[in-house]
Amino acid sequence: MAVSLVVEDLVAAAAQVENGDSDQSQDQCHCTLERVKTAIVLMGPEEIKILISEGVAAQAQCEFCGRKYEVEINELKKLLIRSEKS
Ligand SMILES: [Zn+2]
Repeated sequence: MAVSLVVEDLVAAAAQVENGDSDQSQDQCHCTLERVKTAIVLMGPEEIKILISEGVAAQAQCEFCGRKYEVEINELKKLLIRSEKS
């Protein structure tokens, strides 16, 4: 539970950065599944291993638009490799 909260925070932070780069439209969120994956990679390999060890898809919800994302275990394993390389 605590881990998924961390993911939500990171997704929110990533979305804010993107919004800052674009125009001032506030009702349009720029979050994407790719952004969620990037946020997970930024959590670092140890956190990703915890997500994988839970044995279920990681879930994250954007706090701006409420969109829900799910990252499957297989995808988490790919993200783990990305995280370890960075
Ligand atoms: Zn969003």
